[in-house]
Amino acid sequence: MTDPAVSADAMLAHAGSGRRPGEPIVLPPVLATILASQGQPGDADYGRSGNPTWTALEDALGVIENAQAVVFASGQAAAMALMLALARGRDRILLPRDGYYNARTLADRLRPHGAVPVFVDQGHVAAIEDELAAGRAVLWAESPTNPLLRVADLTALARLAAAAGAPMVVDNTVATGLLQQPLDLGATASLCSLTKSASGHSDVLAGAVLTRDPVLADDLRDWRSLGGGALGPMEAWLALRGLKTLPLRIERQSATAQTIAAHLAGHPRVTAVHYPGSRPETLALARAQMPRGFGPLLSFEVDGNTADADAVVAAATLIAPASSFGGVESTWERRSRWPAESAPPALIRLSVGIEPAADLIADIDRALASGLAG
Ligand SMILES: *Cc1c(COP(=O)(O)O)cnc(C)c1O
Repeated sequence: MTDPAVSADAMLAHAGSGRRPGEPIVLPPVLATILASQGQPGDADYGRSGNPTWTALEDALGVIENAQAVVFASGQAAAMALMLALARGRDRILLPRDGYYNARTLADRLRPHGAVPVFVDQGHVAAIEDELAAGRAVLWAESPTNPLLRVADLTALARLAAAAGAPMVVDNTVATGLLQQPLDLGATASLCSLTKSASGHSDVLAGAVLTRDPVLADDLRDWRSLGGGALGPMEAWLALRGLKTLPLRIERQSATAQTIAAHLAGHPRVTAVHYPGSRPETLALARAQMPRGFGPLLSFEVDGNTADADAVVAAATLIAPASSFGGVESTWERRSRWPAESAPPALIRLSVGIEPAADLIADIDRALASGLAG
């Protein structure tokens, strides 16, 4: 399944398929929690240490980023295993101040296990260099960030991390491995919540870590098996099924998101638009790091207060009011409704689905026109 002459997109369409006479073209989910084994080391003999459906999903993810994949029960389970695996012998973990808030909260909860979280501005390279020099550290980057869609210079950050002997993690959930390849840019590990775009149908919680470091991959498998953050086989099956259409979905969603970002930038009720494809300061960087597109997620700020933003969200008839992102159906939410979130009060985060752009723009315009709380 790893013919280097065949593109990852083409391989994905065939992921898990049998080819020999009588083999199923669609891999069935394997529900067994025990597998026959005579105790050979490395045997996946119990459902917490291995499952054939995971293997198919891990192989497919591995093809995208040319790495070993370790799948988990959720993005957060993957993040926890990664934080615990990397904490050994390290004092600090540097995380983006404006990144995914649950990563900051989790790092804070894991303080007793070694690494103390330090919140940094990813755009401030000199400050990060100082923080890296202040002790043995892990650099936890995120680009584009959720929910402000800021683009960090991952190559520059990886250089700093390497010079300081620090492993660098990139939370690649927003871009996915299809749009951005953090390991090629120098990261030690690439983290992806498969709950979002990667699976793409809002019906499965799953996560993965990609790495080319076999020792780290083994360590992550140990944390998964011992910590119990194992992915269910049905979830693995759904994630693999969704992953096959990721190239089609994300290309369409990226193009539509770019169109909507441009539309919003010209709307009188919108005071700011956040999208990698429309921020001039980082546009060249974004193009270099994400050559295939900028993904389905964008955010914008409406004139007014939180009630005004809530009224806009509630007024849509097509875009559903919901969190998460990357699904085939468009959704939006006022992001600051989550207590630990640091986004501006009237910021709406929009996940662009696969609907035609014209339908979405009509819905957005209607919502912005009628959603005046008064
Ligand atoms: C959703 C998300 C996660 C966590 O993933 P879950 O599958 O919800 O546990 C991690 N990072 C980012 C950027 C996310 O958006």
